[in-house]
Amino acid sequence: MSKINLDGLVAFLKEQGFIFQGSEIYGGLANSWDYGPLGVELKRNIKEAWWDKFVRNNKYNVGLDSAILMNKEVWVASGHIGSFSDPLIDCKKCHSRFRADKLIEDFTHGKVVGDGMSNEELKEFLVTNQIKCPTCGALDYTDIRQFNLMFKTHMGVIEDSKTEVYLRPETAQGIFVNFKNVQRTSRKKLPFGIGQIGKSFRNEITPGNFIFRTREFEQMELEFFCKPGTELEWFSYWRTFCMDFLKYVGINEEELRYRDHDKKELSFYSNATTDIEFNFPWGFGELWGIASRTNYDLNAHQNHSKQNLEYLDPDDNTRYLPYVVEPSVGVERMLLSILFSAYDEETDENGNTRVVLRLKPVVAPYKVAVLPLIKKNHADRAKSIYENYSKYFSTAYDDSANIGKRYRRQDAIGTPFCVTIDDETIQNSTVTVRDRDTMKQKKMLIEDVIPYILEKL
Ligand code: ATP
Repeated sequence: MSKINLDGLVAFLKEQGFIFQGSEIYGGLANSWDYGPLGVELKRNIKEAWWDKFVRNNKYNVGLDSAILMNKEVWVASGHIGSFSDPLIDCKKCHSRFRADKLIEDFTHGKVVGDGMSNEELKEFLVTNQIKCPTCGALDYTDIRQFNLMFKTHMGVIEDSKTEVYLRPETAQGIFVNFKNVQRTSRKKLPFGIGQIGKSFRNEITPGNFIFRTREFEQMELEFFCKPGTELEWFSYWRTFCMDFLKYVGINEEELRYRDHDKKELSFYSNATTDIEFNFPWGFGELWGIASRTNYDLNAHQNHSKQNLEYLDPDDNTRYLPYVVEPSVGVERMLLSILFSAYDEETDENGNTRVVLRLKPVVAPYKVAVLPLIKKNHADRAKSIYENYSKYFSTAYDDSANIGKRYRRQDAIGTPFCVTIDDETIQNSTVTVRDRDTMKQKKMLIEDVIPYILEKL
């Protein structure tokens, strides 16, 4: 379990410059969040790590950056206009609105999953189990109706229905509609995947738990195309690959678990789905969804667009629609899991407490901080060392306050190494390198620090 609760983490991240309330000086906009100087670095590092492992350095996959606004027919074909909805229920007494399935999941601490139940089954479960309104305590609900989560807007200058467009609720459809373009131009043979990182928008009924559920968020999605009949092998491959990635970016293994969907919960087109869940302070929640989606999406687009999306298999000259395995994860949920895993407080023998963000160097906003011991004597040399290190990795510079305070500040923002510049640096070009986690210090030559840190990355 994390050493900090949700409110504590929100306050800490604001104080340190990671995440601020969106539109704060105007009283905020509910559930919107802005990423400050450290938050944006952490977020970019997470995306870079994903892109490296899933796209750039992956022998199977290539990347894509498709548009957020797409032809409305994309969403008709994908089924989003018809059925991308959640079960909405109102409390008749206080008029609070809820997602019926989430009320059940919260009440049963995740033991009963509402996904896959009909509206009638959900309502009956609420009433039979006396699940009362979390706001006012009444047990007096309306019937459940489906609420479509797509954000609608208008393109062009005239607000009529012809110009209606939607903000994409997932990045995946941009990949499916480009399947042929990418396959033809990259000359990839099956199996291969197309990865994409980008913003998605969902008009969630109950956003909350900080950045866990917001209406605007970023997804990192891979659509992996393979020959029908091989999909379950690939499903198992990506299921393990994703778990390994979570450990690689520093998420505590003990706080992670797989939750396989049973028959009732599986979407009708899926023959296997798993969620990797993280143990958040409010309980286990979905972090990464991995689904074997058969040829459902390509088939839907082929039928609706009347374009042939089949793959010509050069091995046996047959034509078919590839099957797809989709690992899909939210950047913000990954960031939140990393932060809960990394946050630590330590008390030394003198009773002094330090906060340490034990971020893996690969995601840490700064890899190293350059600190002149005494500003007036060592700042010039420190600045030139800072400029040199900055060419290799993101480097912080701090010459304010005493050295102990500066170490604490770097510990709290997760900087893995501090390099202190003192008289010896001027005399014989050595610096003191301090390790964030062990607090051990060692002397090194200025230029040896670069390969030392690069190796940790
Ligand atoms: P949930 O059941 O929590 O609503 P979902 O099953 O609808 O999630 P997917 O459609 O599978 O989610 O989306 C893939 C991933 O995108 C999720 O695993 C999650 O990491 C992220 N995600 C989905 N919705 C949100 C949101 N509203 N805010 C932040 N991240 C989200």
